[in-house]
Amino acid sequence: MVDCIFCDIVSKRIPAKKIYEDEKVMAFLDINPRNPGHTLVIPKKHIESIMDADDSDIGYLFQIVKRVATAVMSGIDADGISISQSNGKAAGQVIPHIHFHIIPRFETEGPVGLEDYLPIKKLDKESMNKIANNIKNNLSKIRESSSEKEKEKEDKPSTKEKRIETDEFEELDFDI
Ligand code: 5GP
Ligand code: ZN
Repeated sequence: MVDCIFCDIVSKRIPAKKIYEDEKVMAFLDINPRNPGHTLVIPKKHIESIMDADDSDIGYLFQIVKRVATAVMSGIDADGISISQSNGKAAGQVIPHIHFHIIPRFETEGPVGLEDYLPIKKLDKESMNKIANNIKNNLSKIRESSSEKEKEKEDKPSTKEKRIETDEFEELDFDI
């Protein structure tokens, strides 16, 4: 069994302020909120990064991210929402279990995008072309392998997503 804080939250070995749960996905408040209402959305299955996940799992996970982000936006009366997700230590991922950060943003704190923390590195045309070609080549390989995987899955019966519980935001009472 994996030693993972988010798996412990899924199995209720450690508590969390749960916002949403269904068969595949859970959302709960971040213990160190960067703004009130900062919520994490995770797959219940232990998957380390986006790259390790099946296309269908990610598709469903992102539907829930959208739904929770919409609820956070209105529940917290935010001016905007940042959605961030890190893969690997180099990207700043601390907990190696996929999680999307949904962070309410406010005009009073300044319109700073999370990507603004990394300085811009200007590249010449030749380097940009080389990089674009490398990525495009890899993308076509990945597209082939994921459509093969999806074909294999078509034969298996699908699981019907069932919403188990949704706590609303009525317990949250913040001064911003
Ligand atoms: P990362 O840096 O991996 O993208 O984000 C991990 C997030 O998990 C951090 O924002 C951190 O505050 C949050 N976190 C870490 N441990 C716990 C915990 O035990 N409970 C909850 N609710 N959040 C946690
Ligand atoms: Zn885990």
